[in-house]
Amino acid sequence: MDKIAMVDLKTQYKRLKPTIDQAMQEVIDTTAFINGPAVQAFQTELANYLGVKHVIACANGTDALQVALMALGLQAGDEVITSTFTFIATVEVIALLGLKPVLVDVDPHTFTLLPHEVEAAITPKTKAIIPVHLFGQGADMNALMFIAQKHKLAVVEDTAQAIGTTYQVAGKPHALGTIGDIGTTSFFPSKNLGCFGDGGACFTNDDALAHKIKMVINHGSQKKYYHELVGVNSRLDTLQAAVLKVKLTHLDDFISRRQQAADFYDQAFSDHSQLQIPKRAANSDHTFHQYTLRVANGRRDALQDYLTANEIPCMVYYPVALHQQEAFATYKKDLNSLPNAELLCKEVLSLPMHTELTHEQLVYITQTVLAFFNE
Ligand SMILES: *Cc1c(COP(=O)(O)O)cnc(C)c1O
Repeated sequence: MDKIAMVDLKTQYKRLKPTIDQAMQEVIDTTAFINGPAVQAFQTELANYLGVKHVIACANGTDALQVALMALGLQAGDEVITSTFTFIATVEVIALLGLKPVLVDVDPHTFTLLPHEVEAAITPKTKAIIPVHLFGQGADMNALMFIAQKHKLAVVEDTAQAIGTTYQVAGKPHALGTIGDIGTTSFFPSKNLGCFGDGGACFTNDDALAHKIKMVINHGSQKKYYHELVGVNSRLDTLQAAVLKVKLTHLDDFISRRQQAADFYDQAFSDHSQLQIPKRAANSDHTFHQYTLRVANGRRDALQDYLTANEIPCMVYYPVALHQQEAFATYKKDLNSLPNAELLCKEVLSLPMHTELTHEQLVYITQTVLAFFNE
């Protein structure tokens, strides 16, 4: 059996090597490294895949979030409500722009924002909500959009972990990231659609926002050397776009491979008294960026040590909720205890999840997990 990886990018590359190498070589031959034709082509193809009017690529998923907030024209002191149980990037950009992050608790089963907690956190200064589609499934977008419309708030969907996940709005399927005002994603290599370096994108159906985002990522400029607003430099380079163009044609297959691995894990663990398998959220598919168990009775760390000793990599996403991070200590006085997220930090454990897991590896992983509890 091959050594198990948390994410196996090497085997995936070997399978796709001829087409990816050819696509990269074409970029190198033309030396159109910045804004080459593959960038526009990829944006168009991803827009078609997602069923959204505009895809604007940028340098990474953190930039995509920052640029989205800049394009919305938020002002210093405006409050932005988001989840305390996410990757730091979501909250970092809020603070970086001089906005105020308001962190709220998550559902302990789906790991996504609790709509009633969001509504309770709204003040006259609140301007936006950032739902995070954590681990591959959707936050409760129907409830969150209802709240946002009622209070006239913008919605930026952090779709870094859920590209290609389908969500039902009024019985109709929508791609996550295309429901709010702006969706953002990351093409970090280990994400479900990953490139060979850094990359990201914003999605929107709003022409005016798309126009603004394009200016923001291009130094606040539409016409070279004329700058209408303070922007940033954030581009997806042509080599990354060429890789992503190939990989996008495999995204549905990547997703179904992840779902098959998740089904295998589910079957092995669903009746276990000390393990809680990931609960599926209403109205959402799950594309399993992570397969995250909850481990009861304070045994999470011991299980992690046991798996590691048996050469099974596993990770805690996330060990510290963001309202307890030192970087956000200045907001501390406003941040109450958020019990669900704090409990999850003690109980969650993510197992190896990627597109190349073999039956043999899945058998070994599940049997080793079960053996831990039988010792
Ligand atoms: C990965 C990730 C990001 C940031 O993406 P980068 O491309 O690494 O900047 C933002 N939000 C979430 C939830 C992520 O998982």
